[in-house]
Amino acid sequence: LFVDAPLAEGAELVLEDAQANYVRNVMRMAAGDGLLLFNGRDGEWGARISDVAKKRVTLVAERRTRPQTPAGKLRYLFAPLKHARLDYMVQKAVEMGASRLSPVITRRTQASRVNVERMRANAVEAAEQCGVLALPEIDEPEPLARTLESWPADAPLAFCDEDSEAQDPVAALRPLAGRPIAVLIGPEGGFAPEERAALLRLPSVVRLSLGPRILRADTAAVAALTLVQAVAGD
Ligand code: SAM
Repeated sequence: LFVDAPLAEGAELVLEDAQANYVRNVMRMAAGDGLLLFNGRDGEWGARISDVAKKRVTLVAERRTRPQTPAGKLRYLFAPLKHARLDYMVQKAVEMGASRLSPVITRRTQASRVNVERMRANAVEAAEQCGVLALPEIDEPEPLARTLESWPADAPLAFCDEDSEAQDPVAALRPLAGRPIAVLIGPEGGFAPEERAALLRLPSVVRLSLGPRILRADTAAVAALTLVQAVAGD
């Protein structure tokens, strides 16, 4: 369970609202029961419930059960999709160790506004469900053009281009192994020609083909993150 509080031996933690309800009424836990907690900084801690009241559950952290995993080197930039499909993309990115999520607004981006708080909540939920201890940074949405204006010359950007002739993605990614990598997925309508041209002008762009079929953006996200992590991930 995620807690936004320091975790150390003897630290007292108080769960309220939805978390207290989850522990008390869904998990039906009582005083003396144990829970695993994380806060994204201090690793995973075993804690024991000391009190269960109507709207709050109090615990005491006892011992660290897993050390904090370092934040990864994978930045995931994507044109946000709508609602549940955006939730899905955020969850899969967290599962695959993305350390920074950057929604970029492109010419054909569908979602008119991006709820960053909802993305943060989805990232926490995904981390709780799959035992990821390092929560990703989540950026405010910004236009792709602005992201590219300030893109460092030596920062690799794996640009998933459905129009690229089928390059060997492994050969393209292997030289990047161990370095910070960024992956960019476009919107359902793809990148506009001037966006593709701006991307291809980046000195450190890697044009990534995900095969001969045009994948839906959320499918492409999973495929691209898997490929990058398998070939060059940390
Ligand atoms: N331009 C097409 C269209 O209008 O239907 C496809 C866009 S595709 C649905 C959404 C995004 O997924 C693309 O911008 C690209 O980033 C990624 N993508 C999908 N299939 C891909 C492939 N075979 N290779 C590389 N990237 C792909």
